[in-house]
Amino acid sequence: MKRKHIQVRGVVQGVGFRPFVYNLARSLRLTGYVFNSSSGVTIEIEGDGSEIENFLRTLEEDPPQLAEIAQVTVSDIEVQGGAGFSILESREAHGEFALIPPDAGTCDACWSEFGDASNRRYGYPFTNCTHCGPRYTILRNIPYDRATTTMSTFTMCPACQAEYDDPEDRRFHAQPNACGACGPSLLLVQSAFTSGFENKDSLSIIRQARARLHEGKILAVKGLGGFLLACDATNEAAVVELRRRKRRPHKPFALMVRDRAAVRRLCIVTAEDEASLLSPRRPIVILPRRPGAELAAGIAPGDNTLGVMLPYTPLHFLLFSDSSQMESAFPALVMTSGNLSEEPIVISNDHAMRHLDGVADWFLVHNRDIATRVDDSVVRTFEGQERVLRRSRGFVPQAIALGIETEQVLAFGGELKNTFCLTKGGYAILSQHIGDLENYETMRFFEETLSNLKHIFNVTPRAAAYDLHPNYMSTRMAMASGMQRKIGVQHHHAHIASCMAENHLRGKVLGVALDGTGYGMDGKVWGGEFLEADFGGFTRRAHFRNVLLPGGDAAVRQPWRMARSYLRDTFGSHIPSGLQCFQGIGEKQLALVDTMLARQIQTVETSSCGRLFDAVAALLSIASEVTFEGQAAIALEAAAERGIEQRYNFEIGEEEPMILDFRPTIAAIVADVSRGRPAGEISARFHNTLSTAIAEVCTRIRATGALDRVCLSGGSFQNLYLLHRTVVELRHRGFGVFLHAQVPANDGGLSLGQAMIANQRLREGD
Ligand SMILES: [Zn+2]
Ligand SMILES: [Zn+2]
Repeated sequence: MKRKHIQVRGVVQGVGFRPFVYNLARSLRLTGYVFNSSSGVTIEIEGDGSEIENFLRTLEEDPPQLAEIAQVTVSDIEVQGGAGFSILESREAHGEFALIPPDAGTCDACWSEFGDASNRRYGYPFTNCTHCGPRYTILRNIPYDRATTTMSTFTMCPACQAEYDDPEDRRFHAQPNACGACGPSLLLVQSAFTSGFENKDSLSIIRQARARLHEGKILAVKGLGGFLLACDATNEAAVVELRRRKRRPHKPFALMVRDRAAVRRLCIVTAEDEASLLSPRRPIVILPRRPGAELAAGIAPGDNTLGVMLPYTPLHFLLFSDSSQMESAFPALVMTSGNLSEEPIVISNDHAMRHLDGVADWFLVHNRDIATRVDDSVVRTFEGQERVLRRSRGFVPQAIALGIETEQVLAFGGELKNTFCLTKGGYAILSQHIGDLENYETMRFFEETLSNLKHIFNVTPRAAAYDLHPNYMSTRMAMASGMQRKIGVQHHHAHIASCMAENHLRGKVLGVALDGTGYGMDGKVWGGEFLEADFGGFTRRAHFRNVLLPGGDAAVRQPWRMARSYLRDTFGSHIPSGLQCFQGIGEKQLALVDTMLARQIQTVETSSCGRLFDAVAALLSIASEVTFEGQAAIALEAAAERGIEQRYNFEIGEEEPMILDFRPTIAAIVADVSRGRPAGEISARFHNTLSTAIAEVCTRIRATGALDRVCLSGGSFQNLYLLHRTVVELRHRGFGVFLHAQVPANDGGLSLGQAMIANQRLREGD
């Protein structure tokens, strides 16, 4: 006879871990108990030594589906005797943290119950179990128990309570457990309401909602992490109207389709893509669009990909049909965040009625509160691996293991696509996608989420890390944070450190950070950077040749200005005349920008890769004005013809930092445009030029030292054409190439890199 104390850390609460332990212990005739603590799950077991070994093996090798075990600590204790195995009340232990599970898409067992006309949960929109359903979005406090979630206001009916109490049932201790008799219910309304949730006939309400969608109406649908705006994706007028009301002229809309077959009708889907679509995270997956797919033209203009997700709750599924036996009412629905332009997603019923009034025609609401707003996540697969582009629902608050001890640090992230990052005990806790820190609402969202995650993970940061840009809102928030230690981190250094961190790299790497904008050490706008870097610091070994950015933000919104700037840099005052791309621009405006460039009025120098893409897209008449970040680059990538191997010339300077000079490229593009070469071919040649140039610069840097590991980071590497060719060229030259997967390559990944660099500085006692 032996007795052991077992402490399990990781994602072990809210995933059916205690019932799993209970059933396992009983099947092996072991006695003892299990309980949730704020450091994870604590177990004591007693019995036959070999059965205890079996217990431990199963615990580590075959845990519940959603569990992620980070650490199991086992110690021998005195035998106590006693009978039976029990689940004890949750206890709080201070100074530690438990890893809270993210929300999980409906599991197969729940799908089949909810689609079965003889089941008591037939058509019930909030069906869930220990293996699926809401978690982080309903969590108000830890430990994770019904009383600490927004389900605390619903009292379980006897049937649900019996499931909850029965250790043999798959809903044993499923905290959000509910059914039509006792759980949340729906309401379809057009304007403010105060009551009415007593109507339990979900299916009749859903059928009305479908009818409204059929009429071309826009519905605000309350989901897991916030409201989504839905309309029929094949109805051109509805899509146009949604764009107008949401003040979002071009940025692609995400789609939801009912099932796998429906995805395949719209997109080309690989096995890896399908695995992502069906994973419990249920993200939006960016997929190549199938030519001729029947959709409204306004879904994703100028883009040859679509962002598609599958229903992740029964409620979303019901928008298509009552059950899988019934034909789907829509090939696809637009599902875009319920907000105006770049504000945070709306989560409360009251707020939706006020804020989305005039945007949505109807509101499909329910009476389970959302504790934490979380947008849909976005991923894309590359080389068979899922790459996160927006890390939110399904991922957050899952901590990222760093394989290195860390201090408690708060990194404030960047300005666009903001996330923040807390580190503690060898883990990085990244916030969900907060958004662009451009308005008061988004800053509030940042602050709420920060206070929530600090509490859940019991973190008290002793240092703040921030971007060097003095005008970033995140920088200002760091300055105002009252923390004693504040550590400024260069933007592109943070990108590379982020890539290093998730790949568990130590020592020096060669980092290629390509993006639109980042504040440089010299006060210029950087964005085409080759850094020799580790967590301790960096040297700028090479960069794109600086050109002038005429008129700050205007130059970003109007890519033709960058075309003008590159032309002037290439040809001096003898800019070729008669270029078609400037025909739509007024003479006066052109003259103004030329004067700005000539006299360097309201200009800053930039080595931005994003702006080079803008210039080329404008020269090819692909994008002249844009309304969202990366639009011109996306259109240029979409235009690139496949199967073209030619490239243009470029030059690399001898002195350090080496200057990568694309003037020969620009001159050749102008010549090709003038002789009428197709834009698709020029775009491909331009991409090929860039990837070869990157590989060539890396090779020259390697010649001066032993840097043979390359980290690729920055938003420009979301361009798969560029990424693919660059990776191939680098590997061909013998480099080890490291990419992002768990955190975005774009500015959403900055905070992780900032946190790693701050940790290093603290360690060095700097
Ligand atoms: Zn389930
Ligand atoms: Zn019930």
